[in-house]
Amino acid sequence: MTSVEWFSFLGLCLLVAAVFYGFRRWRYRRAVVRPFPEAWSEILTRRLVVYRKLPDTQRAELERLILHFLYTKRFEGCAGLELTDEMRVIIAAEACLLILNRPSRRYAGLRWIYVYPSTFIAKREQQNEYGVVSGTSSHLLGESWSNGRVILAWDSVERGIADFSDGHNVVLHEFAHQLDQEDGTSDGAPLLYTRDSYAIWAQVFSREFSQLQRSLSFGFNTLIDRYGATNPAEFFAVVTELFFERPRAMQQHHPELYMQLKEYYRLDPVCWVEE
Ligand SMILES: [Zn+2]
Repeated sequence: MTSVEWFSFLGLCLLVAAVFYGFRRWRYRRAVVRPFPEAWSEILTRRLVVYRKLPDTQRAELERLILHFLYTKRFEGCAGLELTDEMRVIIAAEACLLILNRPSRRYAGLRWIYVYPSTFIAKREQQNEYGVVSGTSSHLLGESWSNGRVILAWDSVERGIADFSDGHNVVLHEFAHQLDQEDGTSDGAPLLYTRDSYAIWAQVFSREFSQLQRSLSFGFNTLIDRYGATNPAEFFAVVTELFFERPRAMQQHHPELYMQLKEYYRLDPVCWVEE
């Protein structure tokens, strides 16, 4: 190939890349940089109490994040479930509530959201120290994977939005796991803003986690769901549900934990959730 041919070839490659990039930008702008559809706003007003209570600026930001989320993530209905816009928008809205005020990467590693009609069965294989492999299966409401997948049971999602003040919400729970997994490990310590934040976070979270385990061992009733005592990762997901759904009670009974989550999410749900 002569140098003239090389330059022509290079020019052609650059032109193709520019057209491709331009097309992608155009598609992105068409899907994301546009007014939030009236029909979706109506769905959220009707079904998601927290959407109605958000201040106007935060609601507008949430809508922007939802558009981006729906453009970048793929939804798939499982076990015969026909996904509707209503399902997608509700799941996206709750997922984006967690990143509403965070300078986050918007669930950069997440690609797929699989939705089952109801509780699904997860089969696992475990190998013991002698190399014996055994299978277990359990019924799940939701699952979060570090390889870019979240799995949800739609009836559990609906239960979560039907009462946004009972402290139970599978979407908030599974997407809190996604945030926790952003640094590659699921350990109850998500990516924080400064190095100093980790020490305070570890101090508060391990104290509260041990306290929960102790209270449960004595048979006491606790505001934090007992599932949070499973391990630090579940603890973070469970207290996230509580933070958004029962902020006042959490602030009253676990003020330091509330403060840590308030700084992490950069939100103060006490201002917009009634209990
Ligand atoms: Zn969990």
